[in-house]
Amino acid sequence: MASSKPEEEAKPSRISRLRFKKKDMPGGLWMKCEGCTTTIYRKELEEKGMVCPKCRFHFTLPGPARIQATLDDGSWTELFADLTSLDRLNFVDSVPYAEKIERTVKRTGQNEALLCGTGEIQGRPVVLAVLDFRFLGGSMGEVVGEKIALAAETAQAQRLPLVFFTSSGGARMHEGMLSLMQMAKTCSALAELSDAGGLSICVMTNPTTGGVTASFASVCDLTLAEPGALIGFAGPRVIASTIRQELPPGFQRAEFLMEKGQLDAIVSREDLPGMLAKLIDYGTASWQEYAGRGRANAALKLLEDERQKAPGDSSPEQAVDGAS
Ligand SMILES: [Zn+2]
Repeated sequence: MASSKPEEEAKPSRISRLRFKKKDMPGGLWMKCEGCTTTIYRKELEEKGMVCPKCRFHFTLPGPARIQATLDDGSWTELFADLTSLDRLNFVDSVPYAEKIERTVKRTGQNEALLCGTGEIQGRPVVLAVLDFRFLGGSMGEVVGEKIALAAETAQAQRLPLVFFTSSGGARMHEGMLSLMQMAKTCSALAELSDAGGLSICVMTNPTTGGVTASFASVCDLTLAEPGALIGFAGPRVIASTIRQELPPGFQRAEFLMEKGQLDAIVSREDLPGMLAKLIDYGTASWQEYAGRGRANAALKLLEDERQKAPGDSSPEQAVDGAS
């Protein structure tokens, strides 16, 4: 399929140009889709930007690939990359925490789970922060919290919109209470940005759970998600056994949350840069005029108007089935 490339396809989409390093992705030549359980040839999946060709399930993207898929080529400048975690509790589970960090740094080539920097989305300058699930499950410890606060401060100082991508198992248990403190810290950093008239957007991708969902990811001015993304606090089994009720189909998937009003929009991977550019245009028209949610609401209203003009454009529904 990929062997011949017609000349007229001179401009391949941003997604199809994504490059993956072998160490970035788990599994061998074939991968099983979480959504429809089809076995897919990995190369084909990579060519489709890690979106299942059958059910459109969006696989988790490694941090660097996400940055590449989102920002204009060559616009990324990483910030605060040298911050590294401290093992303050001398925490040991199966492997000492310090050793685990050391190994993960070596394997991923990055010092922490959050990649933060500046760049441009279709020509709009932004501060971008991406949680990488490959780094201890994208968990939030002291450094991730600090980098999020620094990202918010940078956005405020440079008057830039702040865009997050999350994929995370939640707070980093190896850091105990210090990791839970980051929930409050990141929320207050975002509140400050909002009070100053800044705009924050979070795109939750599969999976976004625990203390990340319960803090900065959910309090951004605008919350988007990729189709079929698992988004929640506690896992479904814990909830079902606590409330002793069967959970509804599609529980904790993006479409379910959208229906319940917890998300502003579900956007397919290939449409994300365009949508973010649009929201940034709507949302940052005037830093001074609105504050926080007021501006986000203005952006949403414009978005809604546009949707009504062109109905039936997006079709994320397909990804719901089988994703649970
Ligand atoms: Zn699938």
